Amino acid sequence: MRLILHPDPRTLESELLRGIAAAKETDPFAPVLVIVPTIRLARHVERRLAERLGPVAAVEALPYRTTARRILREAGVALPEPADARLLEGLLDRAIRRLRGNPIAAFVAKRPAALGSLLGTLRELREAGVRPEALDAAGARALAEIHAAYTSALSERRTAGLLDEPAWIAEAARVAASHSARWSAIFHHGAYEVVGMHLDLLLAIDRGSEVTWLAPVARGSRATQYAEDFFLRHLGDCFASARAADSADGSLFGSRLASLYDETAALPPVAGTDACFAATTAQGPEPEVEHALRVALSRTVAGVAPCEIAVVARSLEPYAAAIESVVARDRLPVHAQLSGPLRRESAPRDFLLLLRAVADDFPRAITCEVLRSPHLRVPEGEAGAETLGRAEALSRGAGIVLGLEAWEEALPETGAVLRDLHDRFDPTPPRSDTGHEAVVAAVLEDLVPGAPEALRDAVRMLGDFERLLGDAAPVAFEAAVGRLERLVDRTNLDAIDPSPGGIAVLDAMQARGLTFDDVHLLGLNAGVFPRGPREDPFLGDEARAEIRRATGRPLAVKREAEAEERQILASVLGSGRSRLAVSWQRADVSGRARASSLALREIARLVRGAPDLAGLRDSAAAVPSHPRERILHLASDTGLLRPDEAVLVTTLYGKADEATASRVRTLDPALADGLEMLLDTESFGGRLGRYDGRVGRPFSPERGFAVTALEHLGACPLQFFFRDVLRVRELDEETDPYEAEAREVGARVHDLLREVYASLDAAGWLGRKGAYGRAEEILDGAWERHMVLPRARSAAAFPVLHRLESRRWRRAIAAFLRDDLARLAAAGVEGAELETAREREIALPGGGRLRVHGRIDRILRTAAGPVIGEYKTAGDIARRGDVTAMLRGTALQAPLYHLLSGGAAVEVLGVGPDHDPEEGADDKERIARFDGFDSDALREGFLESLGVLAAFPRRGAYPLLDDVACRWCAYASACRKDHAPTAARHEREDADLRDLRRKSKSKAPTLARVRGKDVA
Ligand code: SF4
Repeated sequence: MRLILHPDPRTLESELLRGIAAAKETDPFAPVLVIVPTIRLARHVERRLAERLGPVAAVEALPYRTTARRILREAGVALPEPADARLLEGLLDRAIRRLRGNPIAAFVAKRPAALGSLLGTLRELREAGVRPEALDAAGARALAEIHAAYTSALSERRTAGLLDEPAWIAEAARVAASHSARWSAIFHHGAYEVVGMHLDLLLAIDRGSEVTWLAPVARGSRATQYAEDFFLRHLGDCFASARAADSADGSLFGSRLASLYDETAALPPVAGTDACFAATTAQGPEPEVEHALRVALSRTVAGVAPCEIAVVARSLEPYAAAIESVVARDRLPVHAQLSGPLRRESAPRDFLLLLRAVADDFPRAITCEVLRSPHLRVPEGEAGAETLGRAEALSRGAGIVLGLEAWEEALPETGAVLRDLHDRFDPTPPRSDTGHEAVVAAVLEDLVPGAPEALRDAVRMLGDFERLLGDAAPVAFEAAVGRLERLVDRTNLDAIDPSPGGIAVLDAMQARGLTFDDVHLLGLNAGVFPRGPREDPFLGDEARAEIRRATGRPLAVKREAEAEERQILASVLGSGRSRLAVSWQRADVSGRARASSLALREIARLVRGAPDLAGLRDSAAAVPSHPRERILHLASDTGLLRPDEAVLVTTLYGKADEATASRVRTLDPALADGLEMLLDTESFGGRLGRYDGRVGRPFSPERGFAVTALEHLGACPLQFFFRDVLRVRELDEETDPYEAEAREVGARVHDLLREVYASLDAAGWLGRKGAYGRAEEILDGAWERHMVLPRARSAAAFPVLHRLESRRWRRAIAAFLRDDLARLAAAGVEGAELETAREREIALPGGGRLRVHGRIDRILRTAAGPVIGEYKTAGDIARRGDVTAMLRGTALQAPLYHLLSGGAAVEVLGVGPDHDPEEGADDKERIARFDGFDSDALREGFLESLGVLAAFPRRGAYPLLDDVACRWCAYASACRKDHAPTAARHEREDADLRDLRRKSKSKAPTLARVRGKDVA
């Protein structure tokens, strides 16, 4: 093998082109092979050849795998393609499950996510050609055992057509020497090292026809020490006789690359660096990417071909979201190999949710997502699209936790749709993998027409577990779903449609060997570039170094990463011919400062001749963080703005006035409505308007106001507007299995108590001593009738929990009945009216009248007059009897019932575990009694409060009231109570409402007293 050395990729590229030209001098049809690490570099070499030499015949640039495939084909060796890593992961999983007492196998069994890393280590060992015995000798016994088991499993399945890439390449290496003699010249370009299997292939090819390796090395330079060490270790003799490349046609900084990291080097400054070098900082990845790509776009406008521009990052991972969003927004022609997980795509994600829903017996939240998915063609049956679309609200209301039977029972039409989905998968009988593949594939075709091919592949791979791994044992549906989920989680899709010939967006490894006119290096932040070494959890550096020393095989030692990072930096910095730009993030998106990379010191050395890190940092241009300034900066740097950016600048430069709005409307008429709203809502000084709940249309229900609606009005008029006027229904609380459907249980407790008291009354027991004994008997029968629904649903899903909750409620209700019946006996109750409606017009101060109606749980007849009873299974009982809260409008029920019934006493009764003395509830949490107002002033004060509240719906004005109700308000996301201009406008108006909240029983029961107190 012949080595030609130079640290500059462009110089090596020129050397390659000269070498090819030389090979063609005597015979233009002489076959020439260029072996490269990546397909991208292969295409790049072909392009450069065409540019430099014009049409050239019989030159092929091939990546390693294609080279091996060509050799195998020409040698007549028929081999299946190397197996997919996802399948090999399945093979490894099976192999290590058989191992007993192996600590790594035990670790992976507990953490299945580690299986991928373990496969990575084994792949590295097999690629390097390290055998299990070498691991054993280095003390890595557990890994040696796994390596042996995995290798043996691979050998076993070879006859079925399963082999990994190292085995495949090894076959090619076996026959390569005889094949390669047909090439008149062979070059290897673009790699500073290779893995063992590729080294073996190159050496085998070299035995048939000499390979010329264009190696990015400057002898003795720290910048390329990593590659030099590789060649010294594995190709020592060739390296000794290597020659340096002719550097006549190098990159912008190619002649200086060898001086990187050399503290003794004295470099003259480069003339005119302002034109060929730029450094910028930004806050967060998106502005950094946006600036780099916009500058790139402006360079194409200036005449540079897009494919001659590269934006490079050490890794694209931290920039993936930013690149995706900027490319989509700016519609840039970008050639990027940027992939994202398949599960991020809507259709695969929803299909997996469907499988998970069936496997887990239709848990409520997942099932609702499935039913409302626009990507699944779920047959609607009799339910219809509207019912399925409302599954979230309906299932919450029905208290469904999970279980197909619970769905069928509570929501029969939706349940029928789910039954159909269930039956399509028929998940009960265990099946072989191919059986599951057939069922899942059929449903996929039916419900997800146009599913991505990658998803179909993953489903097909389910069957490969049986076909290639030979595992025909039946597995449960749940296990097959888990396997498919893992397959999909390891499947990626292109996140950006690559536009060949577009601006190249690459990570540093993809950029190896490529050359461009312009290069922008992103992400020069500490910890990002250079990357810190990461030791392999399964094979430490000591063992790696020992194995490499003992076997002579090229196995990476992770602590050498620092030297590799220097090599990579030199390679990227040498890839630009005319212009180099670098950037880093001075702060993250949230404004937290980020440290710049020490690599900037070397960049300063390269560009300015001295490692002046501070000087380079200080001279970097900052991309502003403020949106307006950022856009202006982009405009001045690149001369390019999108139309929406022009609108934004106009808006942000203008005042919030009609003149600005009119300019913006001209630029984009679609913004007209939004601008109206902004003009109305963003003003501190304006009047309250239609965006402040001032709709101006009176609201007057035919039957008057329900007591509960008035309670909403008293809590917050704007909340009342959302709930009772607009009827925007908040979603029910999701049933929490740990609360055993408390909401539904609460509603049923009312029914249960009605039956108990009605039965006692009918039998003449109400108000008699000993009534509790009879009540217990009634309770025994009534319990099943009223509590059976919640019991059935939660009992199926959570039997133990259900039993405990049932006991708690039963005990609490029994305790309530015992105390309540004893009190009724003492009070001489003579009979009861249960679940009874009342309606009345209430005269308000100032002459107004308010019609109110309500449904009362019970009215007891006693010798001292009627007593109203209202059961509450949750909430603050004491507040409901608090006169100050009544005056303030936050506890209206008791006084309204008092008025509706013509002056009856009202008792608010706590029922259930929260009010059970055995669970620590005191008297205040069990009963609140209201016998009427003690004075005319209090009664007048209450009616005045009622009048203030009732005036809002009459005027069609619904102010917001930032108060305790906000803590559990379902409409908080639609409310601007925290918006300063809105709060300021409200502050000036609706003084009555705010002053209501300052009323008190003892000192200020009326507004006049509240205000009089203020004056004093
Ligand atoms: S968040 Fe507060 S102010 Fe806004 S609507 Fe709800 S209760 Fe009223």
